[in-house]
Amino acid sequence: MLVQHTVVASGSSNWDSDQVWKKLWQLKVVPKVRIFWWQALQRFLPCYAELARRHVMDNGICKLCGHEDETLYHAMLQCVHAKQFWTATLQYFGFSIPRTRTQ
Ligand SMILES: [Zn+2]
Repeated sequence: MLVQHTVVASGSSNWDSDQVWKKLWQLKVVPKVRIFWWQALQRFLPCYAELARRHVMDNGICKLCGHEDETLYHAMLQCVHAKQFWTATLQYFGFSIPRTRTQ
């Protein structure tokens, strides 16, 4: 269930949404990156599992790995491709995978 996998952008176990939004909107990145993360944190991104639930698609299986339903949590953190992204991000930029309530 997506609600259980809320990304905690601050890195702490306390969810302070005002701080998260403030930090997000202060990021010095192109606007579409802020918009993407805002949509991800609001769970507005249309993942395949959600589209399948709405009968827009036949199934919600992740098209990249094919192992399980593509929830937002899977797409952003669990998928083997997402893990490769976070590993590369750590290598090149020093950013680590966001901490979540499930980690
Ligand atoms: Zn996947």
